[in-house]
Amino acid sequence: MPHLIERAATGRAKCRGCGTAIAKDTWRIGEAVPNLFADGEGAESRHWYHPRCAAYRRPEALLQALDGSDITLDGHDALVEAARQGVTHQRLPRVHQAGRASSGRASCRQCRTAIVKDGWRISLLFWEDGRYSPAGFLHPGCVAAYVGTSDVIERLRFFTPDLTDADATVIGEALAAGVTTSAPAPETPPAAE
Ligand SMILES: [Zn+2]
Ligand SMILES: [Zn+2]
Repeated sequence: MPHLIERAATGRAKCRGCGTAIAKDTWRIGEAVPNLFADGEGAESRHWYHPRCAAYRRPEALLQALDGSDITLDGHDALVEAARQGVTHQRLPRVHQAGRASSGRASCRQCRTAIVKDGWRISLLFWEDGRYSPAGFLHPGCVAAYVGTSDVIERLRFFTPDLTDADATVIGEALAAGVTTSAPAPETPPAAE
């Protein structure tokens, strides 16, 4: 069963990329996935995505669904380019949100040093058993080394809607510079929680 693109017949399906409903009559990407709960070999079901969420999260499915179709999506060329980037850089679809560290306890998956409290961090998701699960953090400056590209600000803004323009500028500079935005962690007692 190939991946497909179609107009949503109802507004009931939820997007696995962002968790919100896919509006009736808008384009949706249906990724064919093995059905782990069905009896018999080769059983498959579909996971649904908004086109932009698919470009960021399931780039192969988007590209395959569009291949040979004459469908033109909103922002078509940018979506295709984002998906191609995600195929080229296999870790890119893991990039999720930008936020400030709520504690100084997490360390960066790339450099293995601590991400200081209130410092910017980029959260990651791992694809496993047909879904994405939280899988740690990176310093903004470590994204390029981990992912293979630092061109992630558009997807960060998409998955972090409350990020301000000023925040995005600071994060964008740190991504490009390849350095962490945080000063070394001050000596503080462990949080009492
Ligand atoms: Zn979505
Ligand atoms: Zn790091």
